[in-house]
Amino acid sequence: MIRNPWVRLTLMLLLMLCMGATGSVVLAKPASAPKASPQAAIDQAYAKYKDLQEGKNADYIPALAKVDPNLFGIALVTADGKVYTAGDVSTEVSIQSISKVFTMAQVIEDQGPDAILKTTGVDATGMRFNSIVSVEQAYKTLGGPEMNPLVNPGAITATSMVQGATADEVWAKIMQVHNDCAGRPLKVLEDVYKSESDTNQRNQAIGMLMYAYGYIKANPAQAVDLYTRQCSIGVNAKDLATMAATLAFGGTNPVTKKQVFSSANVPKILAVMATAGLYDDSGKWLYATGLPAKSGVGGGIIAVSPGKFGIAVVAPPLDDAGNSVKAQRAITDISNALGGNPYAAKAPAATASK
Ligand code: GLN
Repeated sequence: MIRNPWVRLTLMLLLMLCMGATGSVVLAKPASAPKASPQAAIDQAYAKYKDLQEGKNADYIPALAKVDPNLFGIALVTADGKVYTAGDVSTEVSIQSISKVFTMAQVIEDQGPDAILKTTGVDATGMRFNSIVSVEQAYKTLGGPEMNPLVNPGAITATSMVQGATADEVWAKIMQVHNDCAGRPLKVLEDVYKSESDTNQRNQAIGMLMYAYGYIKANPAQAVDLYTRQCSIGVNAKDLATMAATLAFGGTNPVTKKQVFSSANVPKILAVMATAGLYDDSGKWLYATGLPAKSGVGGGIIAVSPGKFGIAVVAPPLDDAGNSVKAQRAITDISNALGGNPYAAKAPAATASK
């Protein structure tokens, strides 16, 4: 017991100084430094990359060349369905290849994981997303299911596998899964659909080749047309982040609470995203972030930190591999700030860390 009142007063004042706003003692630094808040991490990345001028809009689909290259929006959705945003998160771009994830997911949901494994396969091709050599290599050299549904040949095949008696029925199913993951009814951007339909001869050739080799069982022209339509669905950064979050939280959309996929199927979907989501740069991306992700030539990227958050960035200028430059940089920074890398485990408590 300290009897001297001045010493007692001084000690009390010192203790009060050491108390934070929450009343907790903050004398020592906590063992692990607190992570940044999602909003702070997003704001910081937005400010850092807003004026970055690297990359170029895709122009092999003429409508994409006309999209504002300065469009930049970031959105992140957490378990409680909270949506954190920065920049323009309401302007829509075409979803493009990001749709491949959700069509593949629908096939897995309806027919089980083996349906994809045995048809297209789940192996990275290491080649560009619309490579015809990759089809030849899979069929002739490797002997079959040696592709994946996140590159065009596999994606057109996955679209051909969606069940429905008519093209309209198949389309309704594709639209439904996208709507359920985004949490609102989406629409096709008709100008993009027309523009790509007029110029997609290469994808038509891929569809025919996949049919010739028996990956697609019937009606390759219909599969290519529905695939082109699904790539033209309009989405903003918020929609995409909600779609990513549906995959981050076991297949249930955390905003609408609707269960879209069975939780057992989600790890399969994420595995293909991890190995093939950013085309031939998927390895580099995984090395930097550890996050299953998917890019589209419309300028969007979604990424998933399982159990933690779904994130999306829309920014049209792409690098040589066809991935949004700003989206890759912003997601990497934000995920690092929030501890999003699922491979980054800590040593057991009793072990001295190096
Ligand atoms: N619709 C585009 C295509 O087939 C999608 C490509 C992409 O986003 N990488 O070429």
